[in-house]
Amino acid sequence: MIEKTEDCKIPTEIVLVCPVCGKRMEVNVRINANFVQDDNWYKQDKKYGEFLDYSKNKNVVLLVDLLKKYFIILDISKAY
Ligand SMILES: [Zn+2]
Repeated sequence: MIEKTEDCKIPTEIVLVCPVCGKRMEVNVRINANFVQDDNWYKQDKKYGEFLDYSKNKNVVLLVDLLKKYFIILDISKAY
């Protein structure tokens, strides 16, 4: 999907469709009653909090590979 984006927009025809109701899928954001806040959400929220704690007052770069689903935190505080 990422490689098909153009000007930060995703072509409508490749947006995933819900297998239950057939409507287009949406990003899981807290805008309505459909927001999913399950065990995995709490697990990822905890990891994000740990990243924020780690990076406080540091010069860090967060590199995220959405296709391979991993991230790298580079601490560049001492790179100068
Ligand atoms: Zn649905």
